[in-house]
Amino acid sequence: MVNLVIVGSVALDTVQTPFRIVKNVLGGSAVFSSVAASYFSKPGIVAVVGEDFPQEHVDFLKNRNVNLEGLEAEGKTFRWEGSYEYDMNEAHTKKTELNSFENFNPKLPKSYKKAKYVFLGNINPELQLRVLDQIKDPKLVMLDSMKLWIETKKKELLKVIKKIDVLLLNDGEARMLFDTPNLVKAGSEALKLGLECFIIKKGEHGVLLFSKEGFFAASGYPLENLKDPTGCGDSFAGGLIGYLESTQDISEKNIRKAIIYGSVIASFNAEDYSLNRLKTVALQDIQNRYTEFKKMGEF
Ligand code: AMP
Repeated sequence: MVNLVIVGSVALDTVQTPFRIVKNVLGGSAVFSSVAASYFSKPGIVAVVGEDFPQEHVDFLKNRNVNLEGLEAEGKTFRWEGSYEYDMNEAHTKKTELNSFENFNPKLPKSYKKAKYVFLGNINPELQLRVLDQIKDPKLVMLDSMKLWIETKKKELLKVIKKIDVLLLNDGEARMLFDTPNLVKAGSEALKLGLECFIIKKGEHGVLLFSKEGFFAASGYPLENLKDPTGCGDSFAGGLIGYLESTQDISEKNIRKAIIYGSVIASFNAEDYSLNRLKTVALQDIQNRYTEFKKMGEF
């Protein structure tokens, strides 16, 4: 039985930073988030790849204990091309090829349907809803999205947001969705939709948490070796929900801890391209950086 289900993209990314370009490397919201979650939990993903998807990536995910029963193969793999300037908090999308996601109709394997934890990773909100509708009685549903869907599918996105517990957006997306320059206002507007928590990611500047119980802010990890932030939002989310699933505790206090674990994994992810850094990071490295984070917050 899978207790943490993740839907999102499995991608081949082409990424240009001020330092170099990498082409057709492993990426996608479901990949970064499931690998991050796998430090604590055994997630199962729902996604589609093409027949062109390299077997070595499938083997890597299997080795990380990611359940692939919900991964279909048809047509051509989703591709994303993006770039960053010196302000690496914002990705500039150059090209998105949905390919096999265009007509993807997710059918959840039986072993996923009773999952208590669900991460609706960044993908078309209509697909997010179709996945959520197949899960019986989830305990915690978290959702991430992006500007593309806020611009093109706002109505569908708001429909699914009304059914979830935790919304994750970056600061630009939060301003756009709630039509305000003020993140505190965006926070209270989000809670009015019935959410338990709204988490705003601010890249290198950390994270804000708005919840019914109050407010929490976590700083970003002071990272000297920043190479590629692609997947930081997804690995943050995966680390966060993986930790919550493993502790079976969704109190606000534990969500704060989970935010720090998510931030730690995201900070490692930015140290190299694609999944390269997460391929070598061990749980002990995560614990060590978590302790550093704790010290950073003391005053
Ligand atoms: P982030 O964590 O926000 O940096 O997400 C980066 C990942 O999002 C990349 O690996 C992309 O493949 C994936 N991505 C980009 N655009 C989309 C999209 N429209 N739908 C789903 N995934 C996307």
